[in-house]
Amino acid sequence: MSSSFHQSPNAASALGVEEQLRYARHLILPEIGLDGQRKLRQASVLVIGAGGLGTPALLYLAAAGVGRLGIIDPDRVELSNLQRQVLYDTAGCGAAKVEHARDRLLALNPHLQIDVYPEAFTLANAARLVEAYDLLIEGSDRFATKYLVNDACALAGKPYVGASIRAFSGMLSVYAAPGGPCYRCLFPEPPGPETVPSCAQAGVLGTVPGLFGTLQAHEALKLILGIGEPLIGTLLTVDLLAMRFQKPRLPRDPDCPVCGEAPTIRALAETEWVCADTSELQTDGRPATVRTMSTDGLPWLGLEAGRRRPALRWIDVRTEAEFAAGHIPGAEHVPLDRIESLPARVGPDEELLLYCQRGERTVRAYRLLGERLKGRLSLLEGGYEAWLRVGPAGNRR
Ligand SMILES: [Zn+2]
Repeated sequence: MSSSFHQSPNAASALGVEEQLRYARHLILPEIGLDGQRKLRQASVLVIGAGGLGTPALLYLAAAGVGRLGIIDPDRVELSNLQRQVLYDTAGCGAAKVEHARDRLLALNPHLQIDVYPEAFTLANAARLVEAYDLLIEGSDRFATKYLVNDACALAGKPYVGASIRAFSGMLSVYAAPGGPCYRCLFPEPPGPETVPSCAQAGVLGTVPGLFGTLQAHEALKLILGIGEPLIGTLLTVDLLAMRFQKPRLPRDPDCPVCGEAPTIRALAETEWVCADTSELQTDGRPATVRTMSTDGLPWLGLEAGRRRPALRWIDVRTEAEFAAGHIPGAEHVPLDRIESLPARVGPDEELLLYCQRGERTVRAYRLLGERLKGRLSLLEGGYEAWLRVGPAGNRR
């Protein structure tokens, strides 16, 4: 922990009148008090990813008076974020997430310094950013980022609060604290790209990241205040359908590739492949060898006039419920779990244009079909959401 967490009470000035009122419910707690509130004001936390986990975490860190908050996220606010990313509002759609977040957080608590980075957390900035903050919160939905954060923190000896969520469940721990385990002690290597659906694909009930982001802020506050038992060496797993909370021990692995006794990852540069390998698939949504079609190409396909090229079949690979909620007119529904039945029903002159909700799932479909339908598959860039933005008549909205 940084020494700034445990300075003498006399080193900091008294709270102003406004702050005494604002933090009255902290000041009355013996575990926090004036000394604790000063520790919060002196602390700095970087939140990586201002999404479903990062936004509730930021709200509570800002409300609690953590003096300097960093926010890094390259994305803009989209309508489909608002179901769970509670910091944003409808009018903010299209704005850079970090800018919108900063405005909302300063409106909540003007005493803070908020640093914004409208970029991805990458090999190029990882070490510098980790160095610049006392503590990190990892709220990314990309495995490449999770491993990069872990390795950067483990190598720098800086703790971070990590969380991973799925539809109705999640897990949480404090990784890379001195003497404690890191994420690679639990999962030494990233999973294969095909097995990792992103949040947008997998679906998630909005309250699930809400709870886990709040718990991340909670653990960060405990670490800053030096109170309670932080989740170091234990893993919190929660099944929110059954409401089952479990806390298995998470020992440090002596064979861990980054924090073990004979580490194979000694510098951040060596982890670059992790980032490059999976980010290609996760951010672009498709391997370089696949033909893709952007919505700009739709007029060319005759979609504006309500016609389609005769030999081109549109295939919707989303779920039953997604297809029922709305689809591109004339598209056939072949959900991903039945996609392997498709080649038997494709004529020799036919070409297929696959689409899903945002473009990620068609990559998995391509991996299943690519060999058998070589040269006859295209993927719609950005998926159904991109098509919705163009509009059924081809008019940009
Ligand atoms: Zn480790």
